[in-house]
Amino acid sequence: MTSSNAELFERARRVMPGGVSSPVRAFGAVGGTPRFAASARGAWITDVEGKQYVDLVGSWGPMILGHAHPEVVAAVQRTVGESSSFGAPCVPELELAEQIVRLIEPVQRVRFTSSGTEAVMTAVRLARGATGRELIIKFAGCYHGHSDALLAAAGSGVATLGLPDSPGVTAGTAASTLVLPYGRLDLVEQAFRAHGDRIAAVVTEPVPANMGVIAPPPGFNRGLRELCSLHGAVFIADEVLTGFRLSPAGYWGLAGRAEGWSPDLFTFGKVVGGGLPMSAVAGAAELMDLLAPAGPVYQAGTLSGNPAAAAAGLATLNLADDALYARLDHVGARLREMVSSALGQAGVPHRINHWGNLFSVFFTAAEVTDYDTAKTQDGAAFARFFHAILDQGVWLAPSAFEAWFVSDALGERELDVIAKALPPAARAAAG
Ligand SMILES: *Cc1c(COP(=O)(O)O)cnc(C)c1O
Repeated sequence: MTSSNAELFERARRVMPGGVSSPVRAFGAVGGTPRFAASARGAWITDVEGKQYVDLVGSWGPMILGHAHPEVVAAVQRTVGESSSFGAPCVPELELAEQIVRLIEPVQRVRFTSSGTEAVMTAVRLARGATGRELIIKFAGCYHGHSDALLAAAGSGVATLGLPDSPGVTAGTAASTLVLPYGRLDLVEQAFRAHGDRIAAVVTEPVPANMGVIAPPPGFNRGLRELCSLHGAVFIADEVLTGFRLSPAGYWGLAGRAEGWSPDLFTFGKVVGGGLPMSAVAGAAELMDLLAPAGPVYQAGTLSGNPAAAAAGLATLNLADDALYARLDHVGARLREMVSSALGQAGVPHRINHWGNLFSVFFTAAEVTDYDTAKTQDGAAFARFFHAILDQGVWLAPSAFEAWFVSDALGERELDVIAKALPPAARAAAG
């Protein structure tokens, strides 16, 4: 007996808050019934009712090779056969750490954690431990996971659901986070002039992608680097989303390396675990060796460095060469062109922002450069577009604030499905 999506969602709501394990999955912003995924291969997801969709979410980033890639599956099966968790040092985590150090020159040490949230939380603690300071600067609309210190004016689900800052975060914690509008180096400079000796870290998404994609203004990331150096603060590049998605060395590999700067700490997640729970904090030895047991800043995890997750990550990174990123850039460009043309023909006001293969479609006529402009979107138009394209078998994130994630499994057959689905979806968006 197979159950319908609606029946399963009703059951789920009886035993799970909102019926889901992560808020945006509940379709709150677009209405309707979430699809329960049953299986996925390559670029295709099949739901419990047997309907197939071309996947443009990729589990919100990790599935850069597509689903169930044979080499990733084989690596996980091999590893799990020897145990799914040792709680002891193991070879897969060591090999993944060595691979990250090889790929990203400023990185000498890697500490594995299990979610992006945990990685950024650890980076913030490390920055505070290293500097003996308390304040953190973050940018409105950037998402760094759901730790208390970083929920203020956060992107991703917090933006999707239009939530104010969350209950449960104490006033004391919130007061330690200075939130600035994205892209305004002058305001960062001002904050450092006012509180420079109290600022432990600046944390940013080097290409914001959780309020939709926003290309950093020229010189912005380098400017943050310089201000942090000048004032003795730690610069944290949260590459949980961009790491191993934009290039073999993430955003830094395309911009920082060429421009001759690097952050003090990187955080990685999503692609680094190849679809299993895995994330990391990484940086130069001097700072990273402040982490226990090498140093006094405590951090730990029962499942950290999990062998199966490390094996999935390593198998993924081993296949992610320059040629793969060239293909992703190409397919991203084709998709942007298709979407823009369909929305243009239907007369739907829109903006498409991109950086490398990452892009997002904003349902607004305004140029989108920060969180305030991202919020000028017509959410109802997006919801109509979303449901029309979903009905035709294209799986998008149920949020107007998410990137569209391409994978190496997208081929001509999948692009054809999307090309046919776009014009009716654009007409639905037009209302
Ligand atoms: C997804 C994301 C996180 C949070 O990662 P989780 O694994 O969901 O905790 C943090 N930072 C950025 C930039 C992200 O995109």
